[in-house]
Amino acid sequence: MNKNKIAVLTGSGEAFNGGVSGVPESSDKSSFSLGKRCPQCSVPVPDKPSNKSYCNNRCRDDFFNNLKKEERQKLEKLKLMTDIQQEENHLQEVRSKSQEIIRKKEEMMMHLKALEVPPEGKKVDVNYLNQIDFEIQYYDNLIASKKYPRKHIAEYGDFGLFWIDTYEILIINKNDYLLWEL
Ligand SMILES: [Zn+2]
Repeated sequence: MNKNKIAVLTGSGEAFNGGVSGVPESSDKSSFSLGKRCPQCSVPVPDKPSNKSYCNNRCRDDFFNNLKKEERQKLEKLKLMTDIQQEENHLQEVRSKSQEIIRKKEEMMMHLKALEVPPEGKKVDVNYLNQIDFEIQYYDNLIASKKYPRKHIAEYGDFGLFWIDTYEILIINKNDYLLWEL
C-alpha cells in the first residue's frame, strides 16, 4: 500500500521532474500562450496532437467558407466595377456621338441660314445641296405633309426641306410652312 503510493508519487514525481528538465512537458505548457491561435475564433490551439491549426472542424469550415465568401465578394465587386466602367465608356460614347450630331445639326442650320430663304421658300437642286456639303440625314424631325400625301418635310431648327420631287427641294422657313399648313 505504502509502497504503491510511493511508487505512484515517485512516478508522478519523475514525470514532473522530467517535465521540468525535459522538453516535452514545457513545450506542452507553453504551446497555449506562445503558439498558434485558431484563425477563425482566435482561441489558442495546442501544437499537439499533429499540427492542428483550428480548434475544431467547424472553425476550419467556417474559416474556408469565409475565405470563399470574401473571394466571391471581391469578384462580384470587380465585376461591378467593370460593369460601371463599361457603362461609363458607353455613356461617353453616346455623349460624344450626340455632341457630334449636335455639331452637325448646327452646321446644317448654318448652311440653310446662308441661303437667305425668302418667305415664299427657295427651290434648290439635290446636287446643289451635295455641293455645299449639306447632309440631309441630320434633320430634327421628319414630318408628313398635311396637304400632300406621301410627301415629307425634314425639319432643321427654323427651316424645313420639302421634297417637290426626287431632285428638287423647296427650303422654307418653319413659320411659313406652318402658316401654309403644308
Ligand atoms: Zn476556432
